[in-house]
Amino acid sequence: MLKKLVLFDIDGTLLKVSSINRRILMDALLEIYGTEGSAATHDFSGRMDSTIIYDVLDGTGLTRHAIEGKFDAAKQSYIRRFRKETKTSDITLLVGVRELLNDLASRSNILLGLLTGNFEASGRHKLQLPGIEHYFSFGAFADDGFHRNDLPSVAVERAYRITGKRFIGQDIVIVGDTVHDITCARVLDGRSIAVATGNFSMDELQKHKPSDLFENLSRTENVIHSILKP
Ligand SMILES: [Mg+2]
Repeated sequence: MLKKLVLFDIDGTLLKVSSINRRILMDALLEIYGTEGSAATHDFSGRMDSTIIYDVLDGTGLTRHAIEGKFDAAKQSYIRRFRKETKTSDITLLVGVRELLNDLASRSNILLGLLTGNFEASGRHKLQLPGIEHYFSFGAFADDGFHRNDLPSVAVERAYRITGKRFIGQDIVIVGDTVHDITCARVLDGRSIAVATGNFSMDELQKHKPSDLFENLSRTENVIHSILKP
């Protein structure tokens, strides 16, 4: 019987993408808006792709209305370029991820999903390249909103539609590498498992009091034990 809904972040948690990601965003913004804004230096970790477009164009003189008017074109340009230009060699699967997903997928009490600031199309391409996309039948993405804290309820609703089970509270587990992942787990009183394989250290993550904290996901049994905690 299904017991836990486990929602994985992508970047810094399951895998890392080379600097090509930043260059593709810069190219897309330049094409659509005529400027790349602060995309060369902006901190993307834990942020939503939807919000990033607005944030990096802030200060360019473009009004919010002007940004909004071309937002879909910019999103499509980014996704098209990302799918065309990003290769398997640009993706580094993080240690233990494949083993952990394999194990989780074999358990009938666990439902796997995504909770990520990626747009779905580019996020799924990142997962396809190293062959882990099939583990995730659904998720909540940057297409679903501008705030990460809006995503847990989207994911829970989709899980309900697929399984007929309404996951609540501590049966919702969010696995991520930033403070934003930890914070968004609190929205539905869920549990957070933080992993220090992104841009945040164990000490930095600990300050935000995740339910559990791991240096990486290599100790499959320990991570699963944490996921299954009541
Ligand atoms: Mg991340």
